[in-house]
Amino acid sequence: MSPPLVEASAISRSYAMRSGMFGRSTAVHAVDGVSLAIAKGETLGLVGESGSGKSTTGRIVLGLEPPDRGEVRFQGKPMAAPGTTAWRAQRARMQMIFQDPLGALDRRLPVGTQIREPLDIHGVGTPAEREERVRELLRAVELTPAHGTRYPGALSGGQRQRIVLARALATKPDFLVCDEPVSALDVSIQAQVVNLLADLQAQLSLTLLFISHDLRVVRQISNVVAVMYLGRIVEIGSADDLFARPEHPYTQALVSASPAPGRRSAGRIVLSGDPPNPAARPQGCAFHPRCPRAVARCASEVPILAAVGGNRQVACHLVMGAATRDAA
Ligand code: SF4
Repeated sequence: MSPPLVEASAISRSYAMRSGMFGRSTAVHAVDGVSLAIAKGETLGLVGESGSGKSTTGRIVLGLEPPDRGEVRFQGKPMAAPGTTAWRAQRARMQMIFQDPLGALDRRLPVGTQIREPLDIHGVGTPAEREERVRELLRAVELTPAHGTRYPGALSGGQRQRIVLARALATKPDFLVCDEPVSALDVSIQAQVVNLLADLQAQLSLTLLFISHDLRVVRQISNVVAVMYLGRIVEIGSADDLFARPEHPYTQALVSASPAPGRRSAGRIVLSGDPPNPAARPQGCAFHPRCPRAVARCASEVPILAAVGGNRQVACHLVMGAATRDAA
């Protein structure tokens, strides 16, 4: 079997946060022991509420910030040290699509110039070849070369995100991290941009890490889905199987709130308690204060992410107990 294009092994990242009257410093574990492997041409959907560590995971995987522990490998090699020539060469193969296209673009420059920028930086081709590549990229994202002369403020939100996508594709990357790429767009435009991304992925054999809190769009594009809660993966498995049969109580609640198109929800599971706060991680299973199925041991023992059959892994004492009984 070929190695994954991107692999994160037990990556962790903490930040110091000052709190209280005396400004006491506490460590906030944004990402805690996350392992992911994404095969070439595959999309891994990373879901979870705000504060779950999805975006930090994406930034570490992309080499934008180093992990405190663990390792990221790209095309079988460890990520090079930031700022080195090897790191720049790796980074040209990996790009990021952000949530806010207007924030990602310079309002003072025509968008064609901004698409050409990565080609200028990496010295790709002659000036005429770069101009031709910009026209080609505009057509690839279903815009026209004329759009290249416009400024970001003169484009719609969907058109701006297409420009961001064209710019990300300029250096012919293998891997894209898409962090909430359609959350800022109207619902009617979201599906168009996700469909375009899926088409480009198929044409260009792109590998995607698709980060979103919205299961509807994750379902549309992902082969594999990982669910995060307070910095850890609590469930991971193939998308169709996970959406059809969520095992972890948190995944069950998320899926119940986002039924498949054309299907009625079997009954929404409404979670009580506070949303996740990385600065106040509960003992034991971090989800236990909100979990409708919590038992006594959940408040003291951290459940380990473990295989429960097929390619599914789940971190839950009850699911593991049932899997162990089934196997006996
Ligand atoms: Fe709920 Fe306990 Fe499973 Fe955590 S370990 S998800 S609290 S049942």
